[in-house]
Amino acid sequence: MILKQFNELQSFLELPKNIVIVGHRNPDGDAMGATLGLYHYLNRKGHKPTVVVPNEYPKFLHWLPGSNNTYRFDWQNSQSQRAIRKSDIIFLLDFNALHRVGSDMQNMLNNYQNDFVLIDHHQQPDDFTYMYSDPEMCSTCQMVYHFIEKMGDIDLIDSDIASCLYTGIMTDTGSFRFRSTTSLTHRVIANLIDKGAENDKIHSYVYDSNSYGRLQLIGQALKNLKVLPKFKTAYITISEEEKTKNNFNKGDTEGIVNYALSINGIVMAAIFIEDKDQKIIKISFRSKGAFSVNQFARKYFSGGGHDNAAGGKSNLTMTETINKFNNLLLENQKELINSYEL
Ligand code: 5GP
Ligand code: MN
Repeated sequence: MILKQFNELQSFLELPKNIVIVGHRNPDGDAMGATLGLYHYLNRKGHKPTVVVPNEYPKFLHWLPGSNNTYRFDWQNSQSQRAIRKSDIIFLLDFNALHRVGSDMQNMLNNYQNDFVLIDHHQQPDDFTYMYSDPEMCSTCQMVYHFIEKMGDIDLIDSDIASCLYTGIMTDTGSFRFRSTTSLTHRVIANLIDKGAENDKIHSYVYDSNSYGRLQLIGQALKNLKVLPKFKTAYITISEEEKTKNNFNKGDTEGIVNYALSINGIVMAAIFIEDKDQKIIKISFRSKGAFSVNQFARKYFSGGGHDNAAGGKSNLTMTETINKFNNLLLENQKELINSYEL
């Protein structure tokens, strides 16, 4: 593990500090697991940590230990701002650039006087005083584990920390099936189970929490699925109206893109979700093999992420966005066809 200025950070953390921990906007299992896992660890070290979450996170993560002690920047704004102003240092987890927290919170962080520590596995991170960046890692939660290890504190990992870190590793690896899952990931997972992560319960809390509405929404999404064999691509659209009709809740669209990717021979999958509040189409991309959706999302949809899982957005209407996407498939046809041979 290479953390820029690690020794300096380690001595800084020898005395109790006020610490703020931040994950990205629209937090997922890895962002929540990493921030809360680190929160419990820093607490046990004698610090005063506060997790500030930019906005709402899905219900299937509400059970995470410590989630009641977090501040939401969007509706607990004064408490969040006070915690940030009082802090001696801020940890940034599971994102690579400050704009990923959303514009209001970014404005505040841009004016922050003390140092940042970045722990993250996304490509092309911005530069911060202290940083542990490794795009090869499957999840930020695994990196938080290695950070604790490097601090010499593996013995401090209790069942709360273990449960949080297990959750993020599980969700970011698609339950240990993506290419980023290594033998080391499995060793870390084994240790977390030994430390008290109840793997069967965690899988159940996260994956068996479907509502009737979400299942209906999945049904609608599968009806909307389009398969384009000559581009080895499949995509799904979900309109605002379809969300409303199925009692949409935050997190209900999580993972739906994987149905498109699961079709035999498909190399790229996308889901386009209309968001009337933000006036955008939010897009998730997934791929298999060499075709990098990180580059695709970065180049054409103001986004990014990882080689095989990325996101972006479009300010056009749904129809215009799909037209744009179809034109881009033509431009990228060769790379798509050559990406992955079964
Ligand atoms: P998801 O499609 O599950 O929302 O995100 C997949 C990956 O892409 C995650 O690692 C996420 O952090 C990243 N990602 C999603 N949306 C965006 C975006 O708009 N910009 C950037 N830079 N990364 C994104
Ligand atoms: Mn992650």
